[in-house]
Amino acid sequence: MYEIYGGWAILDQSRVSGFKSRPTVEKDISLVVEKDRIIDIGKTKNIREKYKFSDSLGSKEWVISPGFIDGHLHSSQRPTIGKVKSAKLLEWLKAIWKWEGSMTKSDAKKCAETTYRELLASGVTSFLDYTSVRHTNEAFKVAEKIGLRATIGKTMMDRNSIPALLEDTDQSLRETEKLIRKWHGSAKGRLRYSITPRFGITCTDELLRGAIKLSKKYRAIITTHAHENRGEIAYDKKNYQGKSAIMHFDDIGLLGENTLLVHGVWLTTNELEALARTKTAYIHCPGSNIMLKSGSANVNKILKAGIRLGLGSDIGAYKRVGQFDQMQLAIRVQKQNHKFLRPQTSFFLATQGSADAMGLGKETGSLKIGKKADIVLLEPGRVGTRSLVDRIVNHCKPANVRKVIVDGKLLFDRE
Ligand SMILES: [Zn+2]
Repeated sequence: MYEIYGGWAILDQSRVSGFKSRPTVEKDISLVVEKDRIIDIGKTKNIREKYKFSDSLGSKEWVISPGFIDGHLHSSQRPTIGKVKSAKLLEWLKAIWKWEGSMTKSDAKKCAETTYRELLASGVTSFLDYTSVRHTNEAFKVAEKIGLRATIGKTMMDRNSIPALLEDTDQSLRETEKLIRKWHGSAKGRLRYSITPRFGITCTDELLRGAIKLSKKYRAIITTHAHENRGEIAYDKKNYQGKSAIMHFDDIGLLGENTLLVHGVWLTTNELEALARTKTAYIHCPGSNIMLKSGSANVNKILKAGIRLGLGSDIGAYKRVGQFDQMQLAIRVQKQNHKFLRPQTSFFLATQGSADAMGLGKETGSLKIGKKADIVLLEPGRVGTRSLVDRIVNHCKPANVRKVIVDGKLLFDRE
């Protein structure tokens, strides 16, 4: 049993959710960690009178924050960052696929190793990684070794891809099932599998229906890209007899509590209603949307519709992993649309919002007694209690991260 203490702590936000979220900042707080969980939280003085600790981590200059959760990224695209000339989604993908098609096992291992270490150093304790079509075992092995809370899946594509990545429908489903059996729930539940068809354009309905069956059989979430860019939406409408991907996914039973869509740009009222009715979640990727000139998701509208929403870096479309850039960009993107997103809401999206969207909300995402000890210690500089979340969201960078704890274990120490 050990203590984590700080000058401030950002405590449980779940009592108020979504766009009304107000993280509570309290002074001189200690957390008690036993094995992988937080078992008590209180004023440092009281906690120290109550327990005997084997160790104590912290500083009066530091802030205890829930670990950040990156809800969407592609570790396999890490080497392509900055190498693909500015392009919109569908042209950009062609360049990315060329790289993915040539990837070896050792490339995949290197990609995961670099990306996951960078995530950890930026205060991310949990993430969802869409690997390429092959070598997904390598990413799982790296996540298992480093100790992060990881949800990982292999990309599925059975049409409209390049020959090096194109799969036969049955083979794609068989390979996915093999990976689920091997990794889903392993490392005492720290590793999970996500079924990851790339998007409607590259996946037949047969493949999507097979993915739904696997999701039900193994209680694994499905993640796919939907409504990112106008070109993709127009393509889908031609393909789905005038319907958008979301309305088509609703018809075939793909929407639901275990489905996590990514992007959510250009959503209509009908689509928002379908998402809310089916309890489908979304991940907002403001950095990637800016880089690929995709448009901007209307975050306030999505939250007001009651849809679970998280935040993702979506590297390699975006240039840096982690949530500091995304929290700032989420605010900036809304401002461009003359809408206001509070720093507290942005912080919520990067922590509890992503956890809820990924189906991990009961276990992680906030500092609460009984939850997993997934914690980041930040040194944000001089700050008052009232402006603390604002400062973290608008001014912090990975360099402000001092220590990162996942599942009760200290995995990163900037010393
Ligand atoms: Zn993506």
